[in-house]
Amino acid sequence: MDDAGTVLENADVLVVDDRVAAVGAALDVPDGTFEIDATGGIVMPGMIDTHRHMWQTAMRGYGADWTLTQYFVWYYLEHGKVFRPQDVHAGNLVSAWDALEAGVTTTVDWSHGLQSVDHAEAAVDALQAVPGRFVLAYGNIQAAPWEWTADKSVQSFLERRRTGAGDMLGFQLAFDVTGDPEFPERAAFEVARELGLPVTTHAGVWGATNDAGIKLMHENGFMTPENVYVHAATLEPDSYHRIAATGGSISVSTESEQSAGQGYPPTWQVRRHDIPVSLSMDTSVWWSGDLFSAMRTTLGADRSREHLEAHIKGDTVTNVHLRAEHVVQWATRGGAAALGRDDLGSLQPGKKADVVLIKNDASPVSFPLLNPYGHIAFQAQRGDVHTVLVDGRVVKYQHRLVGADLAAVRGQVQDTVEYLRSTLGADAWAGGMNPDLPHDEVLDNPYQYTAYKSDSTHQARGSVFGLTADDGS
Ligand SMILES: [Zn+2]
Repeated sequence: MDDAGTVLENADVLVVDDRVAAVGAALDVPDGTFEIDATGGIVMPGMIDTHRHMWQTAMRGYGADWTLTQYFVWYYLEHGKVFRPQDVHAGNLVSAWDALEAGVTTTVDWSHGLQSVDHAEAAVDALQAVPGRFVLAYGNIQAAPWEWTADKSVQSFLERRRTGAGDMLGFQLAFDVTGDPEFPERAAFEVARELGLPVTTHAGVWGATNDAGIKLMHENGFMTPENVYVHAATLEPDSYHRIAATGGSISVSTESEQSAGQGYPPTWQVRRHDIPVSLSMDTSVWWSGDLFSAMRTTLGADRSREHLEAHIKGDTVTNVHLRAEHVVQWATRGGAAALGRDDLGSLQPGKKADVVLIKNDASPVSFPLLNPYGHIAFQAQRGDVHTVLVDGRVVKYQHRLVGADLAAVRGQVQDTVEYLRSTLGADAWAGGMNPDLPHDEVLDNPYQYTAYKSDSTHQARGSVFGLTADDGS
């Protein structure tokens, strides 16, 4: 993953302390070097997720059938405020190990459940208890950005926890810009500037943020290269031009955009605007914390749209624009660039030793290995992650996390789930997980059903899709 996208075969990667010391064939290594046999595998840089609400992993999978509407109601309006500091801690802890297990060595914790400094302390404590690289993007959905950023205790927390944190823990401010012409978010941007922290913002989210917010940021001088625009899905070309011109980057959460409805995953248009892209998983209340999914769905969404746009015009796409190599770039170097970390995202001498080995000798999917980029994007999955190094330290080896007390993590998460379930009550708990199912209209069929499709299978299908006899089905 150097500038030329070089792929080396039968090469070694030598790690000394926290750095990549050398890359090449048949390296001379110091006596006593511990060897990890990568034969038949792929060695790649650690992946980087630039937007994940890690605290929500305590509710893993709960919102699988949500749209953004149910998400906003559940977290923003109804239940987000019942989360205690220990619940944020539990979510972050499981999410942090989850990331490492999948070869995601750097994760931006888009931590917008920090309704008090105690919550923030708990979030950072959890991140620092796990040997991954993290960025705490401080946010608080229970207060307006200009309110919580003005809070001196928040500012002093950020100053204090940054001090001595080293390069394993970074900080950002995380808030959204509604497009209110008064631009009340100005005060929050000014705090970010005073503290020297980048701003990450959900931009171009259908029904929530739009071009007006981008215009306000730009005209008031708050669009800078370190800004990360999350989703950027429902924006006009004018907004993309403003992002491109000011050097910011877009964090695409394709699985999220596809299910939740922020807008069509935007890579098919942002790649024409020369805007840097990184990938993200958003939240495990729906999706996994696994960037293989992000690469795969991003390729699918981009190509799907390219074909669709062509078919509408009666054309055929013969050569796709987005390649497997591009999404592997976005998952590694793209994230590093978004975070201003040119020491991450590639395996070159002098870079930080955040390294992933994909190798699974027990799997028939491990061979033949012909096209490494294609293999990573479309064939590999987290179970194929054999070894993970972060900062030169082995955190996963032979498919097992190293030093993770998962029983303790499980206990914490269980406490949080039990607390939430009893606080919400059985009805709200079940209702939250099972949003109302709209009727699915089945069209009249002009042909007669043949005998093999019996009435009972027809009825069964109808009941699965929530149909009743009244629908004429
Ligand atoms: Zn988000």
